[in-house]
Amino acid sequence: MALIVQKYGGTSMGSTERIASVAQRVAKWARAGHQVVVVPSAMSGETNRLLGLAKELAPAKLTPDYYRELDMIAATGEQVSVGLLAIALHALGQPAVSLAGWQVPIRTTDAYTKARIEQIDDGKVRAALNAGKVVIITGFQGVDAAGNVTTLGRGGSDTSAVAVAAALGADECLIFTDVDGIYTTDPRVVPEARRMGAISFEEMLEMASLGSKVLQIRSVEFAGKYRVPVRVLSSFTPPDIDIDIEDRSGTLITFEEDEQMEHAVVSGIAFSRDEAKISVLGVPDKPGIAYQILGAVADANIEVDVIIQNVSKDGKTDLSFTVPQADLARAVDLLKEKVAPALGAADVLGDPRICKVSIVGIGMRSHVGVAAQMFRVLSEEGINIQMISTSEIKTSVVIDEKYMELAVRALHRAFDLDQPPSA
Ligand code: ASP
Ligand code: MG
Repeated sequence: MALIVQKYGGTSMGSTERIASVAQRVAKWARAGHQVVVVPSAMSGETNRLLGLAKELAPAKLTPDYYRELDMIAATGEQVSVGLLAIALHALGQPAVSLAGWQVPIRTTDAYTKARIEQIDDGKVRAALNAGKVVIITGFQGVDAAGNVTTLGRGGSDTSAVAVAAALGADECLIFTDVDGIYTTDPRVVPEARRMGAISFEEMLEMASLGSKVLQIRSVEFAGKYRVPVRVLSSFTPPDIDIDIEDRSGTLITFEEDEQMEHAVVSGIAFSRDEAKISVLGVPDKPGIAYQILGAVADANIEVDVIIQNVSKDGKTDLSFTVPQADLARAVDLLKEKVAPALGAADVLGDPRICKVSIVGIGMRSHVGVAAQMFRVLSEEGINIQMISTSEIKTSVVIDEKYMELAVRALHRAFDLDQPPSA
């Protein structure tokens, strides 16, 4: 007997038929003798619909409590899901109970719309499991110290599931979704992309933070911190598929880098269009300038990613960096109004038409020349590189967004990701 946490995404919960199918799958695991905790998302489209209603009434924050109320609204999507799934399980004769975040409770900070989990009380959950019930816990939501409903940010149900698995010391956290695992890159861009049987936790962390949207990045951080074995797999197989087969399907996020790992230098290619480039031109080349520019951006809670500073000419230089596209206008306004005049900068330019393409692989630690090979591939395609950033296990380039798909396909081919890896 094992304790298994299963997370089902919005598409998997997208209709009453889909929910009935989830119930069959869950009941199969429970009947095989496992203790099962289920963490579902809202039905697909529901969170957008709910937030859309709020935005019809007030498109932006009008009062300090705006985000508190957004969470109150958005959290209802998951509450509907858990109730429906419990009823679907009851209909199959499987005892089950639903719990909202505040009932568990899942305690979080009060940073509405992006709260962080601080602590999960496992008492009520264990008692229900020991009474033979499947326990269904709302994804995405929690409760702050004052008793207010909070949410963990979009895609937060992944984090709920991994956190619940960590709190319970679960044997495995199965993330059921509408794809059948983690791919070498997005198959919508590269049809030859392959599913990986396993990926190291560190690679998954890079892939998630570089734009692969399968898992919320915080769920991967959580998995790493508490060493929760996470498997990403499809909820679109027949619900009565053999448990042993199911438990070997999908992609395992692993902490043992040798055995299950495929021995490729580059394991995957991530990309993101959600970034924009800002250039501050003609700033004096002297100590404190980067701090004055980037400090002001950080103070506005805008995340900065790739940064480059040009060589200086006549005591002046240019500083360029990327920010989330959604924050571009705000960042440019801030720099133009406050920072550039104080520094005597010549101009501030914003360019939303960029993208970031990254190669990721723990094999890059032990191989030299991988970044150079990436640059060669891009040059052969005539793609100009605007910015570069590297870490131990990834190299990212910022390029014109119109070349994104071309770059991803060329790199996927050049690093042999189209072919099954040789061991
Ligand atoms: N329902 C929430 C969202 O759409 C949380 C989740 O699905 O993970 O972002
Ligand atoms: Mg998701």
